[in-house]
Amino acid sequence: MSLDIAPAVPAAAARRTDFAALEAEYGARNYKPFEVVLTRGEGVFVWDVDGVRYLDCLSAYSAVNQGHCHPRIIEALTAQAQRLTLTSRAFRNDQLGLFYEEICQLTGSHAVLPMNTGAEAVESALKVARKWGYEVKGVPSGLAEIVVCDGNFHGRTVSVVSFSTDPTARSGFGPFTPGFRVVPFGDAAALEAAIGPNTVAVLIEPIQGEAGVIVPPRGYLARVREACTRQDVILILDEIQTGLGRTGALLAEAHEGVEADLTLVGKALSGGVHPVSAVLSNREVLGVLNPGEHGSTFGGNPLACAVARMALKVLVDEGMIENAARQGRRLMEGLRQIASDHVREVRGRGLMIGLELHPEAGGARRFGEALKARGLLCKETHDHTLRIAPPLVITSDQVDWALEQFAAVLA
Ligand SMILES: *Cc1c(COP(=O)(O)O)cnc(C)c1O
Repeated sequence: MSLDIAPAVPAAAARRTDFAALEAEYGARNYKPFEVVLTRGEGVFVWDVDGVRYLDCLSAYSAVNQGHCHPRIIEALTAQAQRLTLTSRAFRNDQLGLFYEEICQLTGSHAVLPMNTGAEAVESALKVARKWGYEVKGVPSGLAEIVVCDGNFHGRTVSVVSFSTDPTARSGFGPFTPGFRVVPFGDAAALEAAIGPNTVAVLIEPIQGEAGVIVPPRGYLARVREACTRQDVILILDEIQTGLGRTGALLAEAHEGVEADLTLVGKALSGGVHPVSAVLSNREVLGVLNPGEHGSTFGGNPLACAVARMALKVLVDEGMIENAARQGRRLMEGLRQIASDHVREVRGRGLMIGLELHPEAGGARRFGEALKARGLLCKETHDHTLRIAPPLVITSDQVDWALEQFAAVLA
């Protein structure tokens, strides 16, 4: 270690600027984070490098549903990390089968395809749906179509942004993957009309997260389900954000009493400690895949499986799903009672809440900044909506404290 290159300014004072400067100097600029450098997390709280504590109301976009550094998940992670982390699927490991069994029993699925990131789960589902279309439904080769919704967010790969309707996510990234049709979200009639003889799948989010927590009209999912069944089309629900307790149910589809053919989960599948995603199949759709046709070096690795098993277990054992429903009601009702000219609408389900501001309020970002100054972290989606999604372990007292902060900045 060389003392010559030690910074001249005291470390504590230099810390924040140093991290931001390092990112600016060496990093791709594909994010515009709030100026806070976090170094530790526990439950609903995170701490910055100066020791300031914040209530996390983003939960890493719902990846940290179980709370930061959940002790039982971290224990599963470290125990498995010391034993075996990666075998590739060239060999079996003693965690994968158990993970399959537990997630299938919990979600009522028949089969699982393990991947790592959410976007990979989406890509996998698209591939499987196309193959099913050609081999089972009999769609002519190369003509498979998949219907998606306006305002969708399913990830960042080329094929996924090919059917994004957000210019920022798409511009400059073509040529795009063909075979997608976009219909308005929440309009079952438009979706039905878009289904043709070559349609193999419909891909939707039960509640659109990135679009600003858009809840579709009641009965929408049930009608979509019915249309898919009638026209022999696979219903793919992207529950990467809505799933695993976030909306007060294990899967958001339960609120409408429907079952997807393929359900995509990710994010909180690991409690935010390791990238783990999965395609869950309720129908023989995954059966179209044969050895060698799809895969991932890290998909189904023993570390991921051990972590995911515990992440699912604590979600259920510790009553987090029920708590999300209870605290979600408390938070949403509290937000609706805040008397503020700035608020246009409070909407959501469970602890997935969007607070939309009037355009005259000057943008959601400045409220995010004001909340940060009061020790609460949350982020805008698009210009005028604050997304509020704390870990599912939040208590009533913490909800009430958060409401005080929202009331203060919205006054
Ligand atoms: C986050 C998200 C994804 C993409 O997941 P990554 O892990 O970032 O690739 C896909 N769909 C939805 C609904 C998401 O919220």
